[in-house]
Amino acid sequence: MEGEDADEASLWQRLRDVLRGRLSTQVYATWVSQMHCVQDDGSVLGIGLPNLFTLDWINNHYKAVLEEELAKLSAARLELRLLDASQGDGPAPEPEPVSSRPSRIVVPSKAAALTAGPRAMASQRPQPASAAPSSPPTQGAEPLSLNRRYTFSSFVTGPSNELASAAAHTVSERPGTAYNPLFIFGRVGLGKTHLLQAIGHAILKKNPSARVLYQTTETFVNDVIQGIRFNRMDEVRRVYRACDVLLIDDIQFIAGKETCQEEFFHTFNSHHDQRRQVVVTSDKLPHEIKDLEERVRSRFQWGLVVDLQPPELETRIAILRKKADSDGIPLADDVAMFIAQSVRSNVRELEGCLIRLSAYASLQGQPITIALAKNVLKDVMPPKSQVLTCDVIVKAVAAHFDVKVADLKSTRRGKTIALPRQIAMYLCRKHTGSSYPEIGQALGGKDHTTALNAFNRIKERLDEPEVRRHVDEVERALLD
Ligand code: ADP
Ligand code: MG
Repeated sequence: MEGEDADEASLWQRLRDVLRGRLSTQVYATWVSQMHCVQDDGSVLGIGLPNLFTLDWINNHYKAVLEEELAKLSAARLELRLLDASQGDGPAPEPEPVSSRPSRIVVPSKAAALTAGPRAMASQRPQPASAAPSSPPTQGAEPLSLNRRYTFSSFVTGPSNELASAAAHTVSERPGTAYNPLFIFGRVGLGKTHLLQAIGHAILKKNPSARVLYQTTETFVNDVIQGIRFNRMDEVRRVYRACDVLLIDDIQFIAGKETCQEEFFHTFNSHHDQRRQVVVTSDKLPHEIKDLEERVRSRFQWGLVVDLQPPELETRIAILRKKADSDGIPLADDVAMFIAQSVRSNVRELEGCLIRLSAYASLQGQPITIALAKNVLKDVMPPKSQVLTCDVIVKAVAAHFDVKVADLKSTRRGKTIALPRQIAMYLCRKHTGSSYPEIGQALGGKDHTTALNAFNRIKERLDEPEVRRHVDEVERALLD
């Protein structure tokens, strides 16, 4: 749109001003300066970009920020349209010169928004690949890419996640030197993204000039595809390599994507060689990810692999308490216990139940009681028969090992029965909150110290693949 700069109050002008304040100088210079308004008719704000590459990049990484700020600026609901101006929407402006300093935080993620950004991606002239890791930081804004809530202080630690949590703390205290890479494994909704971002927050808190890049594998894959398509792989590489800490979420999505694996491999090596921290999360263990090149797999195993298990009852209650406190939801102990007993395998669902219950209570103007919880959450509650008791667990263990319940409850010794019995005791403790005397009772009247020892023994042996596999499989049968 010609003359948009002359109109001080134009929507685009105001949006640009807001972006100037919100984004780092570099991101602004690199990306926003390439945008110009091509349509502003009260229902659509059209932004022209100089080429398809820039259009794609902005679509993938910055559109969410643009939309968010646009929504704040205009009372009416406006559609934001990004257009390739090289296709006939008028000449694109010359990009503003780009400073040679690297960004403080490189966050080319749509979901994540950004603080600083992939300056090099937009630059029309080649930049030196050595992006000067020790250069001074830019005056970037807060790292919007990281969810504010995903910090260590909001992460509840219990036996199910204490190793992963401790490793994450260590890595954030000594990035690049403790475990590199750190591989965080766990099923969906168990806190992988939370822990990964908590590492980023903690590193930035200690060293605000650290360049932390949090990225989903999906966007990484997309960036590589776009880089190849537009012959800009050098620039993509620069973005992923010019950071001090690389946090990649859900790496299992790289399976089967050979070129992306190749890129990841070299990116990883580059970080590792320079003792820069890499942390990845996955819902599968390295050896379970199919179609993963051996050399990439072996890189994952160089460092430390830690896992997140479904939280035990006490941890689930503590998570509910913490969430209720931070959201100001009045949650009585009996209701917390009721929800925690009903939702067992996924923290996201656990939180979802609390939010649903709280919304319902406030809409109805009712207090949150067990009766209300039963009513509101009946769809997500497991049928009565699936409520976990020691008996249910003992039966499931017997079925898994193909032994008789009576044998588990007997005094018979021998390996074939001792391990299943210990696992049954371990799982009873973990999932029912029963006391050791109660567990001993459920296993045929054993002493409470037998139950206690069994619990500790299995806990210690969880890093043995065989023991872990049995525990996982019984849990899967019980919880899914
Ligand atoms: P994943 O990435 O493993 O699928 P997320 O990290 O997205 O899981 O976690 C799902 C939700 O559960 C998030 O809101 C997260 O804050 C919460 N959550 C998971 N584990 C914990 C925990 N131990 N303490 C507090 N909140 C947790
Ligand atoms: Mg996640």
